[in-house]
Amino acid sequence: MLSVIVPCMNEEKAIPLFYLAVSEIEKELSEELEYVFVDDGSTDLTLDQIKELAQEDGRVHYASFSRNFGKEAALLAGLEMARGDFVVTMDVDLQDPPALLPEMLDTVKGGKGYDCVATRRTTRQGEPVVRSFLARCFYKIINKMSETEIVDGARDYRLMTRQMADAVIRDREYNRFSKGLYAWVGFRTKWIDYENIERSAGETKWSIGKLFLYAVDGILAYSTLPLSLSSVIGILMCGASFLALCFIVLRAMLFGDPVAGWPSMVSVVIFIGGIVLFSLGIIGLYLGKIYLETKKRPIYIIREQG
Ligand code: UDP
Ligand code: MG
Repeated sequence: MLSVIVPCMNEEKAIPLFYLAVSEIEKELSEELEYVFVDDGSTDLTLDQIKELAQEDGRVHYASFSRNFGKEAALLAGLEMARGDFVVTMDVDLQDPPALLPEMLDTVKGGKGYDCVATRRTTRQGEPVVRSFLARCFYKIINKMSETEIVDGARDYRLMTRQMADAVIRDREYNRFSKGLYAWVGFRTKWIDYENIERSAGETKWSIGKLFLYAVDGILAYSTLPLSLSSVIGILMCGASFLALCFIVLRAMLFGDPVAGWPSMVSVVIFIGGIVLFSLGIIGLYLGKIYLETKKRPIYIIREQG
């Protein structure tokens, strides 16, 4: 069986379109299907739409969260509920083309030695320019900083074996960043490229602000480099200040010491103060994450299930 995991948040318009599109390619699949919809605290008729489908089609299962826990939590809940030998995670807005499913399934099943098929979009057509630019910068930075490779343009559209899904579930991190997590668990992955497709209905849930926080979370979760950065800056500053000291002492010995240099001193004090605060801020960011992890709060709470 193949489980299709679909996180949904305020997607009443997109759900029927999604179900229709997947049923159209169903005949081409070599496995039976199961749908797992996860309603991530929607405030519109998303849950009713899902329940309607569940009544018509016995293979549709769902879980509904007590509030919005975020897509990462929804994906985890879906992976935990799914019972298929293969699982695939897809967005409900048809930006992840169901037409690729048969090929993806055959790649993992066909004894070609792959555990996972992942997709990446090669273009970002139809997306605001600023957003694509920031996204590119993010991938450059995080890949410089992290040992885990995070692929530019990778989508959350992934088909994997039960074994790999179980490995992902075993990670109980509260700060989840699945683009890194999939790479971290390893296994053999085949990449499929496709061009960006615009969403079928409804609005994107990601504002630039939300994406920025997501990017920071990703860096914090998969790199500790920012922590060492402050010590590197500290060492460089020590070197620079030693040179400056030599210069000042020599100058005073050679040319006497007229009282001057207040502006330069203030600049130096402010500069160093800024660096100290910046470093403290980085430590604070990690500390905040550690604090949240140690609470061991549940990653999601289900209000209703079927
Ligand atoms: N989503 C979710 N919880 C959230 C935000 C999004 O479950 O807090 C779901 C959403 O319903 C959709 C998928 O995640 O199925 C991708 O969201 P969206 O299309 O808004 O993101 P984009 O494709 O613009 O990156
Ligand atoms: Mg989308």
